[in-house]
Amino acid sequence: MVSAQLLRARKGLDVAIIEPSEEHAYQPAWTLVGAGLMTRPQTVKPEKRQIPKKATWIKDYVESVDPDNMEVILRSGDKVAYEYLIVAPGIQINLDGIEGLKEAFGKNGVCSNYVDPEYTWEVLKNFKEGVALFTQPATPIKCPGAPQKIMYLTADHLNRNGLNDKTQVVFATPGTVIFGTEPFKTELKRYVNEVYNIAQRYGYKLIKIDGEKKEAHYVRLALPDGRTDYVVNDERNAAGCIGYVWDDGQQYVVEEENNAIDELKEGTHYVIKYDMLHLAPPQSAPDWFQKTKLANQDGPDKGWMGVHKHTLQSRFYQNVFGAGDVTDLPTARTGAAIRKQSPTIVENLLKVMDGKDANYEGYDGYSSCPLVVAHNRMLLAEFKYEAVRSSDPLLSKFIDLGKASYAMWLMKRYGLPMLYWHGMLKGYKF
Ligand SMILES: Cc1cc2nc3c(=O)[nH]c(=O)nc-3n(C[C@H](O)[C@H](O)[C@H](O)COP(=O)(O)OP(=O)(O)OC[C@H]3O[C@@H](n4cnc5c(N)ncnc54)[C@H](O)[C@@H]3O)c2cc1C
Repeated sequence: MVSAQLLRARKGLDVAIIEPSEEHAYQPAWTLVGAGLMTRPQTVKPEKRQIPKKATWIKDYVESVDPDNMEVILRSGDKVAYEYLIVAPGIQINLDGIEGLKEAFGKNGVCSNYVDPEYTWEVLKNFKEGVALFTQPATPIKCPGAPQKIMYLTADHLNRNGLNDKTQVVFATPGTVIFGTEPFKTELKRYVNEVYNIAQRYGYKLIKIDGEKKEAHYVRLALPDGRTDYVVNDERNAAGCIGYVWDDGQQYVVEEENNAIDELKEGTHYVIKYDMLHLAPPQSAPDWFQKTKLANQDGPDKGWMGVHKHTLQSRFYQNVFGAGDVTDLPTARTGAAIRKQSPTIVENLLKVMDGKDANYEGYDGYSSCPLVVAHNRMLLAEFKYEAVRSSDPLLSKFIDLGKASYAMWLMKRYGLPMLYWHGMLKGYKF
């Protein structure tokens, strides 16, 4: 996207893209693949069609960057010299970041749209009774709404197939609320509590998966402001959402009944038994990137790429910019965010090329989350820094964007993929 926009903005630039993959995937559609609403091949196109015609494609992995000598070191051993660098290697999925996950993953109902959405659909098709547990790690993740989207689609699938009496959907998250920004929060609460009757557990940090026993282990975190509503809408425990407290001697000591769990304290080690488990795995900046001088060396954002939050310029090197999931921008990591980051990067990069300061503070933290809440309903949550609502003014004239709608569903299924392949990747700004 940045290369295409850059080549449109100024003629005669020598642009190269280092990219090892032969194919490019539209990851936002993996949510639909996991629910059987699209196939994976429908989400993938050949890489060579995405590389702008005037850019050179260097088909290799980056192994390191030496910003002092303005060189990128490739896996082949070659070095590529640059004058200006844009860093966008995405995020790394760490299956070994949770005890037992690697061993459990991809069998016995443990699935993830982040890794293999086709397996998610296989699990979902075969899920006829018991607990479907949806969960996410305490690390930052790309598209933080994605673990919820597949949960809503699962609940809708169970309703449509008359399976909701025999099943219980459970959402367990280290987070403290279902969503941070109004009016989307209220609309999503309606879906979890009223439409789907989903049992929710907040402040639950996943620490281990026992794939053989089909158990997910959690430690309970403190909720802010002395809140105690760890467990919400869990009155259907008797229908199958059964968990246990685990003591230090590794013995079950309390069998949960009704709201007894509300009395348990921060630090409690809790086990939820599942029949199907969908999770977002732990994620981080790529290992090789963390070792470069472009990564924050300490602080809470250690390892992520340090960039100025409004200009996207590296905090450490003036001729380097960052885009997307690898950056430390305090907003949701999404493709939608990059749509708004790219024009700012291009404008500032051209300024630096002209010997000026990169002082265009064009990026306001915009990100968005198309929350698919049913097979025919979507809620477009758009926001900027500090979780302030930032809905599109033009769309807002025609549609109530605070509510999930069929029109927005059509946008998710057909409009956004078109926009991505034929607009964003081709360097059009909107
Ligand atoms: C299930 C799911 C649902 C999602 N839903 C949405 C959504 O609805 N809306 C939305 O906006 N976003 C969504 N996202 C998030 C979105 O896909 C990402 O935020 C976006 O793709 C990030 O772009 P990126 O360029 O930073 O990283 P990526 O798109 O991951 O691209 C990174 C690129 O770097 C290349 N690369 C990696 N390592 C190296 C290396 N060592 N050397 C050279 N190249 C390398 C990779 O091959 C890849 O092409 C979703 C993601 C998932 C997984």
